Order: sequence, then C-alpha cells, then structure tokens
Amino acid sequence: MIVVLLGAPGSGKGTQSKRLAGKYGFQHLATGDLFRAEMAEGTPLGLKAQGYVNAGRLVPDGVVTEMVAARLKPGARFLLDGFPRNIDQARALGRLLAASGSAVDLVCSLVLPKAEAVRRMTSRRVCASCGEVYNVLSRPPKAEGVCDRCGGKVVQRADDAEATAVKRLSVFEDLTAPLAVYYKAEGVFHEIDAARSPDEVEAALSAVLSSARGGRRPC
Ligand code: AMP
Repeated sequence: MIVVLLGAPGSGKGTQSKRLAGKYGFQHLATGDLFRAEMAEGTPLGLKAQGYVNAGRLVPDGVVTEMVAARLKPGARFLLDGFPRNIDQARALGRLLAASGSAVDLVCSLVLPKAEAVRRMTSRRVCASCGEVYNVLSRPPKAEGVCDRCGGKVVQRADDAEATAVKRLSVFEDLTAPLAVYYKAEGVFHEIDAARSPDEVEAALSAVLSSARGGRRPC
C-alpha cells in the first residue's frame, strides 16, 4: 500500500508520518529528511542538494526521483512524506509504481492557513543529533537548547528562518498545491484540517487510513 502525505511546510507531515508509520507498519520515506542526512554527511548527493534546500527551492526532479526509486521496494507499505512535490514528480512516481504493478492508494492533504504554517515553521526547532522535533511555543525542550531524548543540541533548521520559510510556502502554493487536482482526478484524494492538535489530526488521518485498507492496482 502506498500512501502520500501532502501539505505545506509546517503542516505537520513529518510528525504525523512518524506516528502513522509506527501505528500501521509503514516504511516512512521523507525526502527532506534524506536530503538533510546526506547534507550532514557531506555526500555527493548532499552537496548537490544543499544549495536548493538552504534557499527553500526544490531539488531537481531527476535527483529526487532517483533517490526515491532506490528506496521504494515492490510490495512494501510506504508512507511518502515530501514526495511528490510537483506534477512531474507525481507522474514519475506513477511510472515507478506501475513498473511493479502498484499505484498510489491514498493521498492525504494536510490543510493549514498560510500564516499558521509560517508561525509553526519559524517556531520549530530540531535536535541536530536525533532529529526529534520541538516547538518553542507549544513543545519546548525541558532544558533550553538540549534534546530531552538524547541530550543533543536543539537548533533551528536553516530553511525555517522566516524569509526561507515564506519562500518554501510560495514554492508549495505554485508547484505542490496543484497535486490536489491531479490526485482528485485519480479518486484517491482526502483533505484533512491540520489546524488542530496533533492528536486530533492523527485521529482524522487514522480514520481515512482505516477505511482504505488494501491496495489499488494501476488501470
Ligand atoms: P521538507 O523537510 O519536506 O520540508 O523538505 C526540505 C527541503 O528539501 C525542501 O525545501 C526542498 O529543498 C528539498 N526537498 C524535499 N523533498 C523534495 C522533493 N520531493 N522535490 C524537491 N525538493 C525536495
């Protein structure tokens, strides 16, 4: 089963993906996390991606699609977080899945007003060691700047600074939001109000997932 979680940066895709992956046994494939890990290690892929990521722009489609193709395994349950990000990536994903006899089964779109997305992004902090996510307004670490889970340093992602956060939102509106129309036409699209608490959003997502068990085959 292949589930795609769509949503503006800051809408809670990462948080919800981790919760749902644990609950339903999905492999969580988060392209943003993969790029950040490659960048931290200074790999050739990380070096290729970092200029785009730090500027809040999309990494070229070919680079992203190749990275995803190397990780998707036929027949496995995947939760895709941050991919696809535009129509060409959605088409590439469709071709990749069709090659192994599958298709996107469900697309859940987390909907959040723009001002709230900016507020959430600029107040987000992450542990530089384990990736645990905090929020200085709603969920600060117990000791300032120190991860509750591993003691690592809690920092702001470079691309969560306000100017880059605003740029990422405009990229989302121009390139990613049109995916709603694309997936509505495929009959697999669901909208979820993400302006609620993480538990409420998780419950809404779980209801959609529970009603859509099984797998769709390509036409
Ligand atoms: P995220 O953590 O999903 O907000 O992604 C952080 C950054 O990684 C984005 O702003 C892009 O620069 C890059 N990125 C992540 N996923 C993709 C994708 N599917 N296509 C292109 N760039 C991506």
